[in-house]
Amino acid sequence: MLKIKNLHASIEDKEILKGINLEINPGEVHAIMGPNGSGKSTLSSVIAGKEEYEMTEGEIIFEGGDLSELDPEERAHKGIFLSFQYPVEIPGVSVTNFMKTAINAHRKANGLEDMPANEMLKLIREKSEMLEIDRKFLSRSLNEGFSGGEKKRNEIFQMAMLDPKLSILDETDSGLDIDALKVVADGVNKLRTENNAVLVITHYQRLLNYIVPDVVHVMVDGKIVKTGGKELAYELEERGYDWVKQEKAV
Ligand code: ADP
Ligand code: MG
Ligand code: MG
Repeated sequence: MLKIKNLHASIEDKEILKGINLEINPGEVHAIMGPNGSGKSTLSSVIAGKEEYEMTEGEIIFEGGDLSELDPEERAHKGIFLSFQYPVEIPGVSVTNFMKTAINAHRKANGLEDMPANEMLKLIREKSEMLEIDRKFLSRSLNEGFSGGEKKRNEIFQMAMLDPKLSILDETDSGLDIDALKVVADGVNKLRTENNAVLVITHYQRLLNYIVPDVVHVMVDGKIVKTGGKELAYELEERGYDWVKQEKAV
């Protein structure tokens, strides 16, 4: 599904990603862990196509096609979902109405008509029931006065509605409380299928107690220095990151 080869990327002429190789197949959950400042969020931004970052070398192939010339919206329409670390508030626009607009924009970009209203309602009902989101929440203004947990609930609802092929959840700096953590984990676990994939980026191992990854990567200084199974996350929690850096230096 996603194949990243020798990816180098810079911001303001400073090289942050220094040769990333990563392959994610349908059905897999990958986690990227690593010390603060190692480039994890930069990687998610570069995959999503944010303009501040410049790809200087390498390739990002998604479903067989090169992403490098596509803007973030086009990538989203191809099925890449990036969770918002700093969600915008839109007073007067409800969670549901925002979602309807987003879904129809996706459909249009993929050559489809607007979703008929009854079908939209059915989809909203189905996904909100699955995620145990109540009706009152759906009619609230987008992100206005939302708690940390509610912001996450909204994000997971968007993910459920858009049904992306690849979801990238960057949870590094957001200081998730236990409620928010469970919302994210339950949502991701319910939305997992054989056909989609998830990339979870996290500084702490805690989230991975709830979302069990198939593959764990450790990023240090713009490179993936170690890859393993879910047990690697526990090892990092116990031993920190220094031993990985030292092992790499040997
Ligand atoms: P992580 O998510 O692993 O904590 P980041 O990708 O946020 O790491 O940051 C990697 C490096 O890139 C850091 O040294 C950071 O200071 C730098 N960096 C990230 N974003 C910017 C930016 N917008 N402008 C300048 N430097 C940045
Ligand atoms: Mg950081
Ligand atoms: Mg980060």
